[in-house]
Amino acid sequence: VVDFKRSEAAWIDISVPLRNGMVRWPGDTGFQAERVQQMAQGDTCNLSRVSMGMHTGTHIDAPLHFVRDGVGIDRMPIEAMIGPARVLQIDDDESIKSSALTQHAIRSGERLLFKTRNSTRAWQTDEFVTDYVHVSLDAARFLVERKVRTVGIDYLSVGGYERDGDEVHRTLLGAGIWLIEGLNLAAVAPGRYELVCLPLNYENGDGAPARAVLRPLR
Ligand SMILES: [Zn+2]
Repeated sequence: VVDFKRSEAAWIDISVPLRNGMVRWPGDTGFQAERVQQMAQGDTCNLSRVSMGMHTGTHIDAPLHFVRDGVGIDRMPIEAMIGPARVLQIDDDESIKSSALTQHAIRSGERLLFKTRNSTRAWQTDEFVTDYVHVSLDAARFLVERKVRTVGIDYLSVGGYERDGDEVHRTLLGAGIWLIEGLNLAAVAPGRYELVCLPLNYENGDGAPARAVLRPLR
Protein backbone atom coordinates (compact mmCIF):
# COMPACT_ATOMS: atom_id res chain seq x y z
CA VAL A 1 0.00 0.00 0.00
CA VAL A 2 1.37 3.36 -1.02
CA ASP A 3 1.75 5.95 1.73
CA PHE A 4 0.40 8.99 -0.11
CA LYS A 5 1.59 11.53 2.47
CA ARG A 6 5.16 10.41 2.23
CA SER A 7 5.19 9.74 -1.49
CA GLU A 8 3.18 12.74 -2.65
CA ALA A 9 5.99 14.06 -4.79
CA ALA A 10 7.85 10.82 -5.25
CA TRP A 11 7.95 8.91 -8.50
CA ILE A 12 7.30 5.18 -8.39
CA ASP A 13 9.19 3.06 -10.89
CA ILE A 14 6.77 0.58 -12.46
CA SER A 15 9.19 -0.88 -15.00
CA VAL A 16 11.04 -4.15 -14.49
CA PRO A 17 14.85 -4.19 -14.49
CA LEU A 18 16.47 -5.82 -17.51
CA ARG A 19 19.00 -8.53 -16.68
CA ASN A 20 20.46 -11.70 -18.07
CA GLY A 21 18.27 -14.71 -17.34
CA MET A 22 15.08 -12.72 -16.90
CA VAL A 23 11.79 -14.07 -18.19
CA ARG A 24 11.19 -13.97 -21.93
CA TRP A 25 8.23 -14.67 -24.18
CA PRO A 26 8.57 -18.31 -25.32
CA GLY A 27 10.64 -18.38 -28.50
CA ASP A 28 11.65 -14.72 -28.29
CA THR A 29 15.22 -13.46 -27.97
CA GLY A 30 14.99 -12.23 -24.40
CA PHE A 31 17.78 -10.11 -22.95
CA GLN A 32 21.48 -10.79 -23.11
CA ALA A 33 24.08 -8.23 -22.06
CA GLU A 34 27.86 -8.57 -21.88
CA ARG A 35 30.64 -6.22 -20.91
CA VAL A 36 32.94 -5.70 -23.88
CA GLN A 37 35.19 -3.32 -21.93
CA GLN A 38 35.84 -3.59 -18.21
CA MET A 39 37.70 -1.14 -16.00
CA ALA A 40 38.43 -4.00 -13.61
CA GLN A 41 40.47 -5.51 -16.44
CA GLY A 42 42.35 -2.33 -17.36
CA ASP A 43 39.99 -0.80 -19.89
CA THR A 44 39.35 2.95 -19.67
CA CYS A 45 35.63 2.52 -19.19
CA ASN A 46 32.86 -0.04 -18.73
CA LEU A 47 30.97 -0.70 -21.94
CA SER A 48 28.24 -3.21 -22.69
CA ARG A 49 26.75 -4.84 -25.72
CA VAL A 50 23.14 -5.98 -25.60
CA SER A 51 21.11 -8.37 -27.66
CA MET A 52 17.41 -8.30 -26.95
CA GLY A 53 13.95 -8.84 -28.31
CA MET A 54 12.28 -5.45 -28.33
CA HIS A 55 9.28 -6.86 -26.46
CA THR A 56 11.29 -7.94 -23.42
CA GLY A 57 10.50 -6.59 -19.96
CA THR A 58 8.57 -3.33 -19.77
CA HIS A 59 7.89 -2.21 -23.32
CA ILE A 60 5.52 -0.43 -25.64
CA ASP A 61 3.70 -2.07 -28.54
CA ALA A 62 3.35 0.16 -31.59
CA PRO A 63 0.40 -0.41 -33.95
CA LEU A 64 2.96 -1.79 -36.43
CA HIS A 65 3.32 -4.83 -34.15
CA PHE A 66 -0.01 -6.24 -35.39
CA VAL A 67 -1.12 -3.83 -38.15
CA ARG A 68 0.71 -4.38 -41.44
CA ASP A 69 1.05 -0.70 -42.37
CA GLY A 70 0.64 0.58 -38.83
CA VAL A 71 2.50 3.43 -37.19
CA GLY A 72 5.95 2.63 -35.79
CA ILE A 73 7.25 3.41 -32.31
CA ASP A 74 9.15 6.49 -33.62
CA ARG A 75 5.80 8.07 -34.52
CA MET A 76 4.20 7.50 -31.13
CA PRO A 77 2.31 10.60 -29.97
CA ILE A 78 4.11 11.57 -26.77
CA GLU A 79 0.73 12.33 -25.13
CA ALA A 80 -0.03 8.60 -25.27
CA MET A 81 2.59 8.03 -22.59
CA ILE A 82 2.81 11.26 -20.59
CA GLY A 83 -0.16 12.57 -18.63
CA PRO A 84 -2.84 11.56 -16.13
CA ALA A 85 -3.47 7.83 -15.82
CA ARG A 86 -5.65 5.56 -13.74
CA VAL A 87 -4.55 2.34 -12.11
CA LEU A 88 -7.52 -0.04 -11.96
CA GLN A 89 -7.28 -3.12 -9.80
CA ILE A 90 -8.79 -6.24 -11.35
CA ASP A 91 -9.32 -9.14 -8.97
CA ASP A 92 -10.25 -11.72 -11.61
CA ASP A 93 -7.62 -14.49 -11.64
CA GLU A 94 -8.17 -15.35 -15.29
CA SER A 95 -8.78 -12.23 -17.34
CA ILE A 96 -9.97 -8.64 -17.44
CA LYS A 97 -13.58 -8.78 -18.59
CA SER A 98 -15.82 -5.99 -19.82
CA SER A 99 -18.23 -6.72 -16.97
CA ALA A 100 -15.47 -5.68 -14.54
CA LEU A 101 -14.79 -2.48 -16.46
CA THR A 102 -18.31 -1.08 -16.67
CA GLN A 103 -18.23 0.06 -13.02
CA HIS A 104 -15.18 2.29 -13.58
CA ALA A 105 -16.74 5.09 -15.67
CA ILE A 106 -14.04 4.83 -18.30
CA ARG A 107 -13.82 7.87 -20.54
CA SER A 108 -12.51 8.73 -23.97
CA GLY A 109 -8.80 9.55 -24.02
CA GLU A 110 -7.97 7.83 -20.73
CA ARG A 111 -4.69 6.13 -19.96
CA LEU A 112 -5.55 2.95 -18.03
CA LEU A 113 -3.13 0.64 -16.28
CA PHE A 114 -4.49 -2.69 -15.09
CA LYS A 115 -3.15 -4.05 -11.84
CA THR A 116 -3.81 -7.77 -11.55
CA ARG A 117 -2.37 -10.60 -9.50
CA ASN A 118 0.39 -10.75 -12.15
CA SER A 119 2.21 -7.95 -10.34
CA THR A 120 2.75 -9.98 -7.18
CA ARG A 121 2.81 -13.43 -8.77
CA ALA A 122 4.11 -13.63 -12.33
CA TRP A 123 7.19 -11.44 -11.79
CA GLN A 124 8.38 -13.63 -8.90
CA THR A 125 9.90 -16.15 -11.29
CA ASP A 126 12.17 -16.09 -14.35
CA GLU A 127 10.07 -18.94 -15.78
CA PHE A 128 7.41 -17.78 -18.22
CA VAL A 129 4.01 -17.89 -16.53
CA THR A 130 1.40 -19.11 -19.03
CA ASP A 131 -1.75 -18.40 -17.01
CA TYR A 132 -1.14 -14.70 -16.43
CA VAL A 133 -4.17 -12.41 -16.23
CA HIS A 134 -4.83 -10.87 -19.65
CA VAL A 135 -7.28 -8.56 -21.39
CA SER A 136 -10.19 -10.59 -22.76
CA LEU A 137 -11.42 -9.92 -26.28
CA ASP A 138 -14.70 -8.52 -25.02
CA ALA A 139 -12.82 -6.13 -22.72
CA ALA A 140 -10.60 -5.10 -25.63
CA ARG A 141 -13.70 -4.27 -27.68
CA PHE A 142 -15.16 -2.38 -24.74
CA LEU A 143 -11.97 -0.30 -24.41
CA VAL A 144 -12.08 0.49 -28.14
CA GLU A 145 -15.73 1.55 -27.80
CA ARG A 146 -14.81 3.84 -24.91
CA LYS A 147 -11.97 5.27 -27.06
CA VAL A 148 -9.29 5.01 -24.42
CA ARG A 149 -5.86 6.31 -25.41
CA THR A 150 -3.51 3.91 -23.66
CA VAL A 151 -3.73 0.50 -21.98
CA GLY A 152 -1.10 -0.94 -19.67
CA ILE A 153 -0.88 -4.49 -18.34
CA ASP A 154 1.34 -6.05 -15.68
CA TYR A 155 2.78 -8.97 -17.65
CA LEU A 156 4.32 -9.58 -21.06
CA SER A 157 1.19 -9.45 -23.21
CA VAL A 158 -2.24 -7.80 -23.22
CA GLY A 159 -3.63 -10.99 -24.75
CA GLY A 160 -3.76 -14.46 -23.27
CA TYR A 161 -1.16 -17.12 -24.02
CA GLU A 162 -2.28 -19.57 -26.72
CA ARG A 163 -5.73 -18.04 -26.64
CA ASP A 164 -6.99 -15.07 -28.60
CA GLY A 165 -3.92 -12.92 -27.90
CA ASP A 166 -3.45 -11.98 -31.56
CA GLU A 167 -7.05 -10.85 -31.84
CA VAL A 168 -6.79 -8.80 -28.64
CA HIS A 169 -3.66 -7.07 -30.00
CA ARG A 170 -5.28 -6.44 -33.39
CA THR A 171 -8.41 -5.04 -31.77
CA LEU A 172 -6.56 -2.58 -29.53
CA LEU A 173 -3.68 -1.63 -31.85
CA GLY A 174 -5.99 -1.49 -34.87
CA ALA A 175 -8.05 1.15 -33.05
CA GLY A 176 -4.98 3.28 -32.38
CA ILE A 177 -4.72 2.41 -28.69
CA TRP A 178 -1.11 2.40 -27.46
CA LEU A 179 -0.06 -0.49 -25.24
CA ILE A 180 2.38 -0.81 -22.39
CA GLU A 181 3.24 -4.39 -21.50
CA GLY A 182 5.44 -5.78 -18.77
CA LEU A 183 4.58 -3.31 -16.01
CA ASN A 184 5.06 -4.17 -12.35
CA LEU A 185 2.33 -2.46 -10.34
CA ALA A 186 3.00 -4.27 -7.05
CA ALA A 187 4.01 -1.06 -5.28
CA VAL A 188 1.09 0.96 -6.60
CA ALA A 189 -2.40 1.31 -5.13
CA PRO A 190 -5.38 1.78 -7.44
CA GLY A 191 -6.05 5.44 -8.14
CA ARG A 192 -5.05 8.49 -10.15
CA TYR A 193 -1.49 9.16 -11.16
CA GLU A 194 0.69 11.08 -13.52
CA LEU A 195 2.34 8.70 -15.99
CA VAL A 196 5.65 9.11 -17.76
CA CYS A 197 6.68 6.21 -19.99
CA LEU A 198 9.09 6.68 -22.85
CA PRO A 199 10.30 3.98 -25.24
CA LEU A 200 13.50 4.05 -27.26
CA ASN A 201 13.09 6.02 -30.47
CA TYR A 202 13.56 3.09 -32.81
CA GLU A 203 12.79 3.93 -36.46
CA ASN A 204 9.76 2.09 -37.77
CA GLY A 205 9.91 -0.17 -34.70
CA ASP A 206 7.10 -2.56 -33.82
CA GLY A 207 7.82 -1.98 -30.14
CA ALA A 208 10.54 -0.84 -27.79
CA PRO A 209 11.63 -1.18 -24.18
CA ALA A 210 10.56 1.67 -21.93
CA ARG A 211 11.07 3.12 -18.47
CA ALA A 212 7.75 3.82 -16.83
CA VAL A 213 7.06 5.85 -13.69
CA LEU A 214 4.00 7.06 -11.82
CA ARG A 215 3.42 9.88 -9.35
CA PRO A 216 0.22 10.10 -7.32
CA LEU A 217 -2.21 12.86 -8.27
CA ARG A 218 -4.03 14.54 -5.43
ZN1 LIG B 1 4.76 -6.33 -27.02
